[in-house]
Amino acid sequence: MLVTLWILSVLMLSIGVYCVIFVANEFLGFLLFFIPSSAIAAALFALRKVLVNQEEIMKKLEALSNQTNAPIPKKPCAKCGEEYEENLSSCPECGWKKGS
Ligand SMILES: [Zn+2]
Repeated sequence: MLVTLWILSVLMLSIGVYCVIFVANEFLGFLLFFIPSSAIAAALFALRKVLVNQEEIMKKLEALSNQTNAPIPKKPCAKCGEEYEENLSSCPECGWKKGS
């Protein structure tokens, strides 16, 4: 869609330049020059907004994945000595629970 807009804008710019130079119709030339210029500016502005949003989302996702991928500290089980993740309430090896 953006590519189509670009091609259309470049085409209109070319016609505008052609009008000014060869047809000597300054008003038509100005119109054909001004419209695609505004269109390009608007498209670039929209694109920039989208890119900034995307960057923010990517940063948030990265922070989130860093959080979830962080290694969970392990500790040895008091009963069987098997190392297991600290956030588990009981030892997956022997079933020993903290405080029991
Ligand atoms: Zn255990």
